[in-house]
Amino acid sequence: MNKKILTALRFVLIFATIMVLAYSRQGLNVLTPGYTLALVYLLSNLALFLIPEKKLQTSWALFSIFMFDVIAISVAIYLSQGAQTDLYLVYFLVIFMASVGQNMNRSIPIAIVACSIYGWIIYRTNPGISLLDSRILIRIPFLFMIALFSSYWSQSTRRELKKKEELERFNRELEKEVARVVAEEIELRQYSEKIINCVSSGVIAIREDGIITTLNPEALRVFGLSSESIGYDVGQYEFLLPLWDKMKHALESQSSVARDEITLKIKNREVPMGFSLSPISGAAGRFSGCVAIFKDLSDIRALEHQLKHAEQLSYLGKMASWIAHEIRNPLTAIDGFAQLLETTVDRDKITKYSIEIHKGSQRISHIIEDILAFARTERKIKSMEVDLRKIVESIVESMPNTNIKISGISNPVCKGESESLRRVFVNLIGNSAEAIAADGEISVDFQEAYGHVITEVRDNGIGMSEDDMKKIFTPFFTTKQRGTGLGMSIVTKIIDEHGGRIEIESRRGVGTTCRVFIPKKDREGAAVSKSEEES
Ligand code: ADP
Ligand code: MG
Repeated sequence: MNKKILTALRFVLIFATIMVLAYSRQGLNVLTPGYTLALVYLLSNLALFLIPEKKLQTSWALFSIFMFDVIAISVAIYLSQGAQTDLYLVYFLVIFMASVGQNMNRSIPIAIVACSIYGWIIYRTNPGISLLDSRILIRIPFLFMIALFSSYWSQSTRRELKKKEELERFNRELEKEVARVVAEEIELRQYSEKIINCVSSGVIAIREDGIITTLNPEALRVFGLSSESIGYDVGQYEFLLPLWDKMKHALESQSSVARDEITLKIKNREVPMGFSLSPISGAAGRFSGCVAIFKDLSDIRALEHQLKHAEQLSYLGKMASWIAHEIRNPLTAIDGFAQLLETTVDRDKITKYSIEIHKGSQRISHIIEDILAFARTERKIKSMEVDLRKIVESIVESMPNTNIKISGISNPVCKGESESLRRVFVNLIGNSAEAIAADGEISVDFQEAYGHVITEVRDNGIGMSEDDMKKIFTPFFTTKQRGTGLGMSIVTKIIDEHGGRIEIESRRGVGTTCRVFIPKKDREGAAVSKSEEES
């Protein structure tokens, strides 16, 4: 109960009390007890103005005030011989006020005190009164009932009020929270938009139903679109359909694509693009679509093309000078011996010169073979069953002065082109033979693992420095006086054509090991069966 209402109601009470006293038999004469009571009562209410509101709000303060009121009114009724009059009605007023102002467990004691005092007054003024007298039988229970009903009513009203207040407070807090979350989401969206806009890759997001939802500035640039395209159906942009097909596929299978390439025809221009795809689904399935992050590879492709061209030109230049140099030597020798032949009649000399001419032409033919093998563009090999052991054995036979040991499985059969694979091992064993000293040793070992035939060519020759190891596959790199520097380039080329690979380990002064892996099946997956090998 707030202070203003309390004091206003009390003024009503005080006014009623003064009326009680004024209408009593003694009247309200100065300095009579009734006059003093009215004055004290009035002053007590004025004093309330001095007490701070907070202190008045405590239940004990209110209890004391209402108890004081009950006593003051009781005294007034007593002084006015109230039992005879209707002035007991003032009790109803104070009890009603006490009940409205506090809860039940405080208003009931006040009602008890009021009833007791009132009962006593009736008894005092009417000694020997019967308990069944209407003044006792009706008025006192009525006072109680008023106390009970009004305090119950005010308590439940207060409770309702409190609930309503709590609900309102909760609503206000909820509104604040919603506003905060909305602001946060707007900020977050702006933040992620900023990120998407400043990445150098293109970003496009398309909803499941084909509506374009995001295009960042790089995507707009590459596609030659304006931001108005956002919100349109992807079907309107025909050049995007191949990408949309891939996105749909990722969406259907719910699997992302880490790396792929596609060429889109944008305004009569072929644009190669590297891209990754991620299907996304938003909260409660509200948004479902796919995001593609892509990079325009046009510049990179052009650069690669230029580089390849430059590389080819540089090889061509090197090759031209190398051929000129390499062929001129044997050619000069052939020319010289041919001139000598013209004038010679000595049979032995003729034989000797003929042999030299043959050697020269062999050397030229060897060089031409190497050049052809190196210059050959990548092609599909003629795949047949090849027993690598047989090939190596025939090479070893042609090198009777070199110490070569063969070990490992007896039938290392793979799929490939016999002549090409022969060239691989001629080169590898040849390099080893050129690297070892007179008492050096070469070993060739065959194994099978992971669907591959593994051939290891090992020598205990001069080995290579780390620097030379890095250059070993570079065309024309040679450390030999009469080397072509094409051997290892040809080797890798052939192994690549067979879908295999080569590993090299080498230490200066210790030796070199070359490990060649050739698949047992060709690229179409046809396995080499035992019967095929034997046939
Ligand atoms: P070439 O044999 O005509 O020099 P290759 O391409 O066959 O050309 O070899 C390139 C270079 O790699 C050789 O000159 C040599 O320095 C080095 N090399 C290759 N194989 C071996 C080996 N088994 N031991 C030592 N060095 C080797
Ligand atoms: Mg060689």
